[in-house]
Amino acid sequence: MADDSSVLVENPYHTARLKPLRKGKKPPKLLAVVHQSGCTGCEVCIAGCPVDSIELVPGPNPNNPGFQQTVEIDLARCIGCQNCSQDCPWETITMYHHEDSYDAWAHETLFSELYVTEERLEKVDTDHGPKKNE
Ligand code: SF4
Ligand code: SF4
Repeated sequence: MADDSSVLVENPYHTARLKPLRKGKKPPKLLAVVHQSGCTGCEVCIAGCPVDSIELVPGPNPNNPGFQQTVEIDLARCIGCQNCSQDCPWETITMYHHEDSYDAWAHETLFSELYVTEERLEKVDTDHGPKKNE
């Protein structure tokens, strides 16, 4: 999704930002990344995540968001339990060392609601941020 020069930031307007942060100062050794090109959006992985860190990414048609939906994982909240990578029937979730996970995310993510590039943040701000006249 992002080229190597893009800076990823959390989407401040996604509802996941209201969920509790992961405990502990150090990230877990492993973090899960979805290879979205192989994800069928079956939602099997969502049920087994103990910290509710897997989010749906709607498909491209706003009138039928369930069609071609995928999922993504909130890297800031994943605790690396590996449930999702073991549960996925399509073997499309891989555990990466946390230092490699953001690069893997950038290569494997086709569309994200949780993370945006700095360029896209401006558009997200325009679409969802405080209106200029408020
Ligand atoms: S590894 Fe565990 S905590 Fe992380 S997204 Fe998968 S199920 Fe959730
Ligand atoms: S279980 Fe696998 S295929 Fe199904 S939504 Fe999760 S990542 Fe996608």
